[in-house]
Amino acid sequence: MAGENGGAIFARTHSAVHSHDMAEDNLMEKIVSLCKRRGFIYPGSEIYGGLAGTFDYGPLGVELKNNVKQLWWRMFVQDRDDMCGVDAAILMNPKVWEASGHVSGFSDPLVECKKCKRRFRVDHVGDKCPECGGEFGEVRQFNMMFKTQIGANEDASSVSYLRPETAGGIFVNFKNVIDSFHPKLPFGIAQIGKAFRNEIAPRDFVFRSREFEQMEIEYFVNPSAWESSFEEWRRAVHTWTDAIGLAESSVHELEVGDGDRAHYSKRTIDFEFDFPFGRKELYGLAYRGDFDLSAHAKGSGQELSIITDDQTGEKVVPHVIEPSFGVDRTILAILANAYTEDTLGSEPRTYLKFNKTVAPIKAAVFPLLKNKPDLVAKAREVYLMLKKQVPQIMWDDNGNIGKRYRRQDEIGTPVCITIDFNTLGDPSNPSGQAKSELKDTVTIRDRDTGGQERIAIGDLASRI
Ligand code: ATP
Repeated sequence: MAGENGGAIFARTHSAVHSHDMAEDNLMEKIVSLCKRRGFIYPGSEIYGGLAGTFDYGPLGVELKNNVKQLWWRMFVQDRDDMCGVDAAILMNPKVWEASGHVSGFSDPLVECKKCKRRFRVDHVGDKCPECGGEFGEVRQFNMMFKTQIGANEDASSVSYLRPETAGGIFVNFKNVIDSFHPKLPFGIAQIGKAFRNEIAPRDFVFRSREFEQMEIEYFVNPSAWESSFEEWRRAVHTWTDAIGLAESSVHELEVGDGDRAHYSKRTIDFEFDFPFGRKELYGLAYRGDFDLSAHAKGSGQELSIITDDQTGEKVVPHVIEPSFGVDRTILAILANAYTEDTLGSEPRTYLKFNKTVAPIKAAVFPLLKNKPDLVAKAREVYLMLKKQVPQIMWDDNGNIGKRYRRQDEIGTPVCITIDFNTLGDPSNPSGQAKSELKDTVTIRDRDTGGQERIAIGDLASRI
């Protein structure tokens, strides 16, 4: 686990039961309930009875999600010199989706019960309707794109779609980026944004929803170099899962076989994660040949695809490697990976073992007692000083220290900082001792071990 701290400083005095030892359904229920209770993820439109397949990220969820997106952008765009980003419109000319094959082919097979008229995805049911036992009709293809009208006229010419993936917005801007920046092969364009799919059966919390976010890359290469580039991206996906703290043993590669790959793809790897409900796709990595650029060149009638490879001097139609990351599945994997129950001292507790990079709150600051103005003022000072350097800091003065620790553990805050009488260097310290040598030091308590240390206020920022 990259970026994790603490374990070396404190001896482990308790036994941790990792999430995967717990009953699976039970674990999902616990995660969903913690997410709602503590403000990570709420059901969409809840006060109106909800809207299936939609979720709202709460105050901690949005911080966690932003951390993930910022880290991804940093790692795959800003820290490299062969990548750039775009942020394209969600509504696109419907011809984009005709050319890409989504209008004719982006569908799931669906059956309707002849008796109760309920509809199901064929691969999710047996021979009979699970609701009423009725017979199914013929299998039909159900297009998963959300249709909408553009403008005031409601005729065929005004039909558009909410994008079902972010990739389309990258391909239509390929020529724009080339004209503005003249990048040399190989190079890539990245985008983070919303995608919409009218899933027949949204399920498993944010794993399969109807509105979600993707982080996608189209990496353009000389056709002769696709294999080495594919390997680099394969490794990059593991570097990423490591950076967000997912256990290596829960991430698996699935080579998609000849019969299951899209017709244009010579190689596809699904990166699967051991979710509480089973091993399922987290990310995809596909070699797509020149399928997309050629399809959009044909569809738009524009010359998009031929550029000169500076290294070889040839004119080539670039081929594409596409690493595709779902944001919401990333969040769920991080939560499932982090969820831990153990006993600290004699008290059972639940905590989220986030690594520091993704943790929504990096540290919490407490005054030991909330009714002592001097303590509160000093704690406030420390809090504001830290917040200037590390924005994700929380203030808490509710209840006793033990309760505050439990609350912070449950939301995965790596450390808690307590300002006490020794911090003030106050000789009237109620412990009866004037520890003036402890002036301007605080206790810092580690989430995973519960161990505490005394450190100088000046060393706090670098520590957290
Ligand atoms: P699945 O087979 O699970 O439906 P997919 O193969 O259709 O997924 P892609 O089209 O490859 O998925 O989309 C790329 C990524 O977008 C997926 O790896 C996943 O992380 C995310 N994703 C796709 N569909 C959804 C969804 N309905 N809800 C949340 N994330 C999704």
